[in-house]
Amino acid sequence: MSLSGPSPIGPSLSGPWRRAAAGAGLLGSDGAVRPTIFAEMSALASSTGAINLGQGFPDEDGPAEVLDAAREAIAQGVNQYPPGRGSAVLLEAIAAHQHRFYGLDVDPQREVLVTAGATEALAATILGLVEEGDEVLTLEPFYDAYGALIELARGVHTTVPLRSPDFLPDHGELRAAVTDRTRLILINSPHNPTGSVLPVETLDLIVELAHRHNAIIVTDEVYEHLTFRVAHVPIASRPGARERTITISSGGKTFSTTGWKIGWAIAPSEHITAILAVKQFLTYVNGAPFQPATALGLGLPDEFFVSAAATLERKRDILSAGLSAAGFTVSRPQGGYFVIADAAPLGYADAADFCRRLPELAGVVGVPLSAFCHPRMAAETASLVRFAFCKRVDVLERAAVQLAGL
Ligand SMILES: *Cc1c(COP(=O)(O)O)cnc(C)c1O
Repeated sequence: MSLSGPSPIGPSLSGPWRRAAAGAGLLGSDGAVRPTIFAEMSALASSTGAINLGQGFPDEDGPAEVLDAAREAIAQGVNQYPPGRGSAVLLEAIAAHQHRFYGLDVDPQREVLVTAGATEALAATILGLVEEGDEVLTLEPFYDAYGALIELARGVHTTVPLRSPDFLPDHGELRAAVTDRTRLILINSPHNPTGSVLPVETLDLIVELAHRHNAIIVTDEVYEHLTFRVAHVPIASRPGARERTITISSGGKTFSTTGWKIGWAIAPSEHITAILAVKQFLTYVNGAPFQPATALGLGLPDEFFVSAAATLERKRDILSAGLSAAGFTVSRPQGGYFVIADAAPLGYADAADFCRRLPELAGVVGVPLSAFCHPRMAAETASLVRFAFCKRVDVLERAAVQLAGL
């Protein structure tokens, strides 16, 4: 029997998911699906023993009360399908959280939906609200799932560039980017990968443009509690925004429980109904015992939230100082898990190439910023690297020492 000739199975990834892979920049010129840069860099970290500052997950546990609450929930038998919109205790905790921190009044029964992480909220929102050919505007660089989901929905991905050093959008470019074809304006503040926080003037311009062009605002606020001496202002709290805004967040980053995948969407009830129509066939429900635990977290005293941000700010400063001392030009993130370092002053013009060599050069892993951009931003991001500082202080200090040898 001959095993040569064309494969009888054909391409292993088909139809809409091929579009999604293409949208995430994962289709090679030969049509094969390539692993993400994150998978490649994490594999490199484990094969070389390098310190992995590539992926954004904490290496320390979050608040013990929250972890205990999940154990307790399992022990109490909270192990079956929770209600479709989420457990009542979490829906109520999310609404109470919006009121406590932002003065927003939210109806927990009609205006909140619990999802499998912020990722599913984003997926169900984009799949539920975007028609073929609709434009979805994001900032660029952008969180990689955005590009894939927009392609999956057959939308048209348009972007406004965020440029170093402050990574904030130019208002003229923002105005020009929103058109009558724009269905969603998808923002992310604090921003992954750049750490920028959108100023109130920019939020207000987005609201104005959304009104003028009848667009819906989608806001990814997973780092809402991790800002450094700047207040997080949810766009939904700005005048005129609420009725056209879908706010997405998650417990993963706030409570260092990224593996739990408890996220949510908050929106006017007609949008929640649309998002739920998709969510019920993606996962139906998720994470029963983690829902009451996340609810408990959202109700922790102010000191927890203040100290989580302060601890992370200290970590930002340790890694930033190490990168500066090593010769990088370093951004000043105002929130989130990441710092952007320019390798050009060290003589490395190509960050992707530099990141592949960095484990050997310094025993550290980072991710090139180009992984979060379309090729059109290649020149502006060529020498920029994203490093995660959501790691233990001793790990960051060791990384700083190793980077100093560059
Ligand atoms: C981590 C992250 C997410 C995903 O959140 P999950 O709750 O883990 O799904 C979404 N958006 C941004 C910007 C993130 O950094």
